[in-house]
Amino acid sequence: MAYVSNPKGPAPTPKATGSTKKGKTTSPGVVAIKGTLGFIGRIIATVFLVCVITGCIVATVMSIYVLQLVNTNDVIDLRNFKQNYTSIIYAENPETGETYELQRLIGGENRIWVGIDKIPKYMQQAVIAIEDKRFDNKLGPAHSGVDWRRTLYATVNYFVSFSARTQGGSTLTQQLIKNITGEDEVSIPRKVQEIFRAINVEKVYSKDDILEAYLNTIALGNNTNGVQAAANLYFNKDVQDLTLMECCALASITQNPSRYNPFAHPENNKERREYVLLEMLNQGRITQQEYDNALKEPITFKKEEAMQKKGSKWNWFVENLIDEIVSDLMTKKGMTKQQAEAKLFSGGLRIYTTMNPMIQKILDEKYTSDETFKAVTNKEPPQSAMAIIDPHGKILGIAGQRGEKVSDRGFNYATMAKRQPGSSIKPIATYSQAIELGIINYSSPIEDSPMKEVKNGEEVMSTWPKNHYAGYKENMTVVRAIQNSTNTVAVKVLDMLTPRRAFDFLKNKLGITTLIEARKKEDGTVLTDVGLAQLGLGSLTEGVTVLEMTGAYQIFANGGTYTKPYSYTQVLDAATGEVILENKGDSNRVISDETAYIMNRLLYQVVNGATEGTGLAAKVKGAEVVGKTGTSDDNYNQWFIGCTPKYVAALWIGYDRNKEVTYSSSYPPVNAWKQVMQEVVKLDKDPGTFPVSDGVVQEAYCVETGELASPYCPTTAIGYYNKNNLPNICTKHLNGGTSTTDPFATTSSNFWE
Ligand SMILES: [Zn+2]
Repeated sequence: MAYVSNPKGPAPTPKATGSTKKGKTTSPGVVAIKGTLGFIGRIIATVFLVCVITGCIVATVMSIYVLQLVNTNDVIDLRNFKQNYTSIIYAENPETGETYELQRLIGGENRIWVGIDKIPKYMQQAVIAIEDKRFDNKLGPAHSGVDWRRTLYATVNYFVSFSARTQGGSTLTQQLIKNITGEDEVSIPRKVQEIFRAINVEKVYSKDDILEAYLNTIALGNNTNGVQAAANLYFNKDVQDLTLMECCALASITQNPSRYNPFAHPENNKERREYVLLEMLNQGRITQQEYDNALKEPITFKKEEAMQKKGSKWNWFVENLIDEIVSDLMTKKGMTKQQAEAKLFSGGLRIYTTMNPMIQKILDEKYTSDETFKAVTNKEPPQSAMAIIDPHGKILGIAGQRGEKVSDRGFNYATMAKRQPGSSIKPIATYSQAIELGIINYSSPIEDSPMKEVKNGEEVMSTWPKNHYAGYKENMTVVRAIQNSTNTVAVKVLDMLTPRRAFDFLKNKLGITTLIEARKKEDGTVLTDVGLAQLGLGSLTEGVTVLEMTGAYQIFANGGTYTKPYSYTQVLDAATGEVILENKGDSNRVISDETAYIMNRLLYQVVNGATEGTGLAAKVKGAEVVGKTGTSDDNYNQWFIGCTPKYVAALWIGYDRNKEVTYSSSYPPVNAWKQVMQEVVKLDKDPGTFPVSDGVVQEAYCVETGELASPYCPTTAIGYYNKNNLPNICTKHLNGGTSTTDPFATTSSNFWE
């Protein structure tokens, strides 16, 4: 093996103080410095290598970690997010038949989905220009989900902060993913996940799909998402009607919704939207002419209109509508209450209501006026509620409390309060069933006397029930007992009918849900509503609601069918068009048309009797009224439930605690009912007529005996009878009996109950 020696001589002996790799000889001082540098260099090199190796290891570990965390095949389903939107309530204008928007139910956020074809090109171009100019092909090839140039720029800037102007590296696609996943945590795994998702979304969806989803999800300030809801809010317009500059104004907001909020900072928004406009010009998305014209265009934000909408409270009809839909979603769709409310408030539903806006307006006005309750003489004003439906169950208007409505989801006395119905229960629980079963007819004579009881093995007269008038009047016809609301007759008829039958009828056929079959108390006693006092006189365990009583009385206005009161016809899913809930107004026949007609005529006498009737003051001009009063013990609860051919309306007055409602001449619920319904019937040119029945005949009856009149009967009146259940002809006066004085004349001034 050859050894090649240094041609310049032997290599110098290494010195302890220093050395040179090149083998040059140097002065001792320089050698010392260079030696030191060499040492530092080696350390630096070592550290550098360690760093590189560590970096590689860390990067590898991180990559594995990140790849484990992210699902690289994750595709976001854009269609699902169409459903997460504001619900809209519609009502029909009864004069024109047109459906119009009544109100919006805004849960968390206000947003209305709108298709890309309804979004102006200016709007689309404005967001692309300012947020992601390589989203489309305008400036060269479009990115496919991720703009790597901007991502690199943003990443470097994130660590080095060379530019104060933080231009996020996110494309519209990435922002969309952030918007719909709600994931906005600043972390590398999340960012990587977002990048994979963006690339996947671009593989599956078209640019138009992505842009549509983006424009419907961007946050645009004031709790509003998407360009349609924002156009409604800021300009009181639909997005398709926005001008170029208005589109720029919306596109400006998204980068910083509070800073560029048009209501809070209009000057910031102006500066930004002019910049957006300039970018559009610079990128060739608009012409110089369009730019110049837009700059001259004045912009007006509709702050006042927006504030008015925001401040409007749901009326009592809408309150009940909300409860009804939530309840139906639970029972018909198996949702929990929470799910049902989420669906209602952010399910993008379209709700078609039965509300008559004019009737609701009358109720709102009458219930904020003390004049309506002027018949009450108490210093402290009592509470009241009223419901008005059409004769086939459609709820037209509701008053849930007196006075200005101050809060949403408040206590609705028309639907939530259970109150004692007093005598207003008699027609539905007792008389209609007794006529249906042929137990009584229009003029059957029933003795006005207390019930008998058994004492010491002997049947004796008890002292119950008492009447609202003093004493008892002995013989009474059914029509007269109803006119005067005689308690004894109602209890005796119910006794013949049996409380069981009355209870089942109310519960199973007339939609009264508040009755108690049996409830054991702590002391062992059992409460039940199956009883003479409960169903004969309306002394129930819990009571009834105004709305359910209104529903029950429809059978007297429509010929005998029952439809559960409802406040919407359809609830649609706006995204899919699917009908989620529907009310077709299906009805059940619960009494024959003969019975319904006879009952209608009996209740007619309460309001239209020649000399007596507890509801005489309920008559309104222009429409026939039939109805019944009700008063619970000590005047704690007062009712009038009346029907015209087109409406059924129940009105209740009472206090939150047991307190007497006092009055002098006019019975308060009748007085208030008349004031409301007088306005309601004015809405119709044709008041309509009640249905009649071919199976019912009008016959003269003997007022004294209640039997069909003979030519000798001294006092007669016209009664209404089922052809198959006619009374006998009066025999008492056949032998030329003389006229007698009327034994039933009412003398009491307080004959309301
Ligand atoms: Zn007679």
